[in-house]
Amino acid sequence: MGRLYSEALPRLQNLFPVNHQFKWQYWSPPVDMVESTNGPARLMRLINVARSMKTPELTAMLPLLFYLGAQLSVDELLDGAPRVDGTIERLQPHDARICINGRASLVSANSFATRCFRPRTQSLIPGCSTQYECYTALATMVSDALKEDFFASSDPLRDLTVWFEKRNLRWHLCKPCAEHILKNHRDARTAIWVGLPTILCLDNEPNSGV
Ligand SMILES: [Zn+2]
Repeated sequence: MGRLYSEALPRLQNLFPVNHQFKWQYWSPPVDMVESTNGPARLMRLINVARSMKTPELTAMLPLLFYLGAQLSVDELLDGAPRVDGTIERLQPHDARICINGRASLVSANSFATRCFRPRTQSLIPGCSTQYECYTALATMVSDALKEDFFASSDPLRDLTVWFEKRNLRWHLCKPCAEHILKNHRDARTAIWVGLPTILCLDNEPNSGV
């Protein structure tokens, strides 16, 4: 078990980085753990293993594991998810509750993180020489975004740079305003990343170590 653990750990730490200095803005969530057929069972297994082994390394991954857990459906969280062999992996009721409650908190965190995209003059750089055009461009872009679950998403760590740049090819915010908005979004996501244990109510857990 010791050798297996030390072999698996670097790979897991790459998937679920815990170091706040890690360049997490380049981190992509392992979406297959949410979207593939057996992904949810693998995610629940990791949470269950981290809970039972209680090693500092695995315990430190819990915020990101629960972040992904909060993306699962309530049915999966309550009834479990199928493993490759057809049996069912389940979370402990307390952990399922963390994911279910966490979802609402993450939607609220996303609403905070995406404030920088809201069409208001504070979203633009002070003294922008094309303020009216930039304001109109942002308003149009965001009205498109409203159809995409943009502000109500439970995935606030999602990197929206490509999404934004693609749309800005059409709507043309000036470069300083575009950079300002993306920087504010990165900063807001950093705050969420650092605050995940609090957002998911993990920092008061006994022996959680997070
Ligand atoms: Zn501008």
